[in-house]
Amino acid sequence: MEDTLLMIPGPTTVPKRVLDAMAQPITNHRGPVYGEILDETTAMMSEVFQTDNKSYLLTGSGTSAMEAAIANIIEKNDKVINVVGGKFGQRLQQLTEVFGGESIEVTVPWGQAVNPEDVKNALEENDDVKAVTMIHNESSTAVVNPIEEVGKVVKDYEALFVVDTVSSLAGDTVKVDDYGLDICLSGSQKCIAAPPGMSAITIGDDAWNVIDKVDSPTYYLDLKKMRKMGDKQPPQTPYTPNVSLTYAMNEALSMVLEEGLDNRINRHHVGAEATRKAAEALGLSLFAREGDRSNTLTAINMPEGVSDGDLRGTMRNKYNIEIAGGQDHLSGNVFRIGHMGITGLQELAMTFTCLEMTLKEFGFEFDAGAGVAALQDVYMKNQ
Ligand SMILES: *Cc1c(COP(=O)(O)O)cnc(C)c1O
Repeated sequence: MEDTLLMIPGPTTVPKRVLDAMAQPITNHRGPVYGEILDETTAMMSEVFQTDNKSYLLTGSGTSAMEAAIANIIEKNDKVINVVGGKFGQRLQQLTEVFGGESIEVTVPWGQAVNPEDVKNALEENDDVKAVTMIHNESSTAVVNPIEEVGKVVKDYEALFVVDTVSSLAGDTVKVDDYGLDICLSGSQKCIAAPPGMSAITIGDDAWNVIDKVDSPTYYLDLKKMRKMGDKQPPQTPYTPNVSLTYAMNEALSMVLEEGLDNRINRHHVGAEATRKAAEALGLSLFAREGDRSNTLTAINMPEGVSDGDLRGTMRNKYNIEIAGGQDHLSGNVFRIGHMGITGLQELAMTFTCLEMTLKEFGFEFDAGAGVAALQDVYMKNQ
């Protein structure tokens, strides 16, 4: 277990500093020690979100923050434009429907980014749209969506802009205030490189105005309660938070800021480019459309004659490397490599070395060493 290399799009490898932080004694979650840590952690969260708004930590994985975002703004029959181009886009749509909203779907072919014009058209064609929901980095297809451009579109309408940055925050550019993101949410276990189980949400004034008018059926994820307790000095959470994970988030966010957000995003750029070039050098093709490809993970089409079980099974059982499969209709057709969090050259070099051995074992033909050579080339150019 200890030596397993996690090359999946979350959870990602957690640095020792962060693991050690979790070994601190549990403290009273209503006491001053925890209050100070929570205060510091949410402030760092806002810094990473690049917003002057307050941020809130939720004990619950990314999906809990997705649910909080929808449950607190949607009432029965509210119209919501859901941009859907993959599994996570679908999840925000399903949440919209669970909470009684009427979904207007902007359908995006899997593997492509949304065209901002399509969102504009949907806003033009429908009156009284309460919100537009979108996934920044669609992890099921390894596509990055243009949140800045869509933000400019949504700005001209009453609708709130709700964006999931679970697999992009701290690995790709997210500027909550500049892009006009009314609600933005993220998770602990992807580019932030903390363990799974926590998420964060930040909410702007326009969104609070809506939330204040909504009688939400949710209890645990009530954002009004989170604000009330979060505004105490020192701040608290409505219910008992995962204290250890708060320590972990504090340490992981400190590491993000020590590295510098821009440096970290650039490091992700290099990892993404190296992964794409290495895959293509092996004669593999990429699933996502050129120009729309993610900065934090890559989806690769399964080569002819090699099964998902062969490829991922061998990587796991022989080489101790976890890579991800495809979801839904992509199951068996693509595999996904995460290059997020602290993952860098060491991990990618190991992954491609072993991927080459796996492909060779199953008779896929390529120039031996070509993937690793392409990887070296990208890293040497970016030294
Ligand atoms: C991982 C992920 C989530 C959250 O999933 P959890 O399993 O609940 O943490 C949400 N959105 C995207 C885009 C993700 O990649």
